[in-house]
Amino acid sequence: MPIPFEIGDIVRLKKQHPCGSHEWEVLRVGADFRLKCLGCGHQVMMARKMVEKNTKGIRKKEGE
Ligand SMILES: [Zn+2]
Repeated sequence: MPIPFEIGDIVRLKKQHPCGSHEWEVLRVGADFRLKCLGCGHQVMMARKMVEKNTKGIRKKEGE
């Protein structure tokens, strides 16, 4: 079942970023996602498939 990612969601990935954070904010969705590390602010582009494969959890945007 596809995960309903939306801009502003916080995803928790299996792979830890070198800064120590597992959490990323979704900045852009599509075939490729743009994610921002909540630990250090680093931004990456990642194929949707890779994001889905590595997602352990998702936290919806606050207030929704
Ligand atoms: Zn980081």
